Amino acid sequence: MHPPRHLLESVQLLAELSDIYGVRAHGRYGLSQVTQRMHAIQCASLAQAQGFAPTLVVAALLHDIGHMVHDLGEHPAAEGIDDHHEAIGSRWLARYFPPSVSEPVRLHVAAKRYLCATDKSYIDKLSRDSIESLALQGGPMSASEVAAFQTEQFWRHAIALRRLDDAAKDPDAPLLAFEAFLPLIETALGADDESIALMDESRR
Ligand code: FE
Repeated sequence: MHPPRHLLESVQLLAELSDIYGVRAHGRYGLSQVTQRMHAIQCASLAQAQGFAPTLVVAALLHDIGHMVHDLGEHPAAEGIDDHHEAIGSRWLARYFPPSVSEPVRLHVAAKRYLCATDKSYIDKLSRDSIESLALQGGPMSASEVAAFQTEQFWRHAIALRRLDDAAKDPDAPLLAFEAFLPLIETALGADDESIALMDESRR
């Protein structure tokens, strides 16, 4: 159970997110030609366009927040450092959001290791920095790690998030304002803890 929320807490959270994505997200996203903010918004826009549930759109928007709330610099993998941003980010998000948001975020690096082990074409499409960080993150999963991953409640969400993540690196994609997602963030904050919907039911 995530803690109960009060209006003031929501307002403070939305202000903090606007600050993080307005001020702290100008760093480059790894070695790609997009900033953290462009990557986050593009990832969420793709999730929305593909009909994913609001909680997954918000997970897509905030999946790399762990990079913005640590002080290890823009590209720690180049210095041989695994910043464990998925753990930092999911812990941060779990203070406010249900597991349907924080869990896919916690698992999105493991999802890369899973896809490298199970989808032969996946590894060929990874960007240079994703391959660089893969080694630091433990390389492709073993068969027993693959089986264990599939027992996670939100493993399918994490795979979906990972594919969106990998696709959201286009420097020329049109970009919404971060604030355009504030209503969806509100919806995700109030989502049922038990909700494991992957797709947006209202669009069926
Ligand atoms: Fe990402």
